[in-house]
Amino acid sequence: MSKDILKIEEEKTVDFEFDLIRRNNKLAEENRRIFLENGVRAFDIMGSVGSGKTSLIENIVKILNGKYSIAVINGDLATTIDAERISKYGVKVIQINTGKECHLDANIVRKAIEKIDLKNVNVLFIENVGNLICPSDFKLGVEKRVVVVSVTEGEHVIIKHPLTFLEADIIVVNKIDLAEIMGVDVKKIVKDAKSINPKVKVVETSCKTGLGIDEVIKCLEL
Ligand code: MG
Repeated sequence: MSKDILKIEEEKTVDFEFDLIRRNNKLAEENRRIFLENGVRAFDIMGSVGSGKTSLIENIVKILNGKYSIAVINGDLATTIDAERISKYGVKVIQINTGKECHLDANIVRKAIEKIDLKNVNVLFIENVGNLICPSDFKLGVEKRVVVVSVTEGEHVIIKHPLTFLEADIIVVNKIDLAEIMGVDVKKIVKDAKSINPKVKVVETSCKTGLGIDEVIKCLEL
């Protein structure tokens, strides 16, 4: 049986999209400068809904709260569930509800950080909207990009979203306590990550048990 493949990536790159990305990149550079001037180390946490982004931030905050003054921005289409989870730890939390937008952009992050006393914050985690497609195009001005994948997403999750992983600094493979039950080969996920992005750091975690969280903190150089 023959397979017809229609690739739409070339048709998609019309002028207005270039303008949008270029404009966003400029704003992201401004954010980067604002973070630098205020001594804030910012991290973009990306990943699908349910991969464990909020749990990862919770685990890190539990360990580092006190050592650093931490703030968290939670991006979500409609709810405040994640922000409520994080605010229990007494850190500053800003919820962004994006409505129909499937990603955060530099402009919306800029508006959020205007609500934070950046002079008194050392570390900022930005939880992006949950999906592996849109957020990768929109830089936010952060120091590192972290992409969280869960073994429950299946072992092809990385090769199906190459662009997102190409630009990641750290890939967190979460819920590895469920790998066996899901019949997922974690080694394949790690191998795919390294073949797409040889420089990326890959950490296996279970946010449920706390496994690997120290390693993530090490990779963040915190
Ligand atoms: Mg979340």
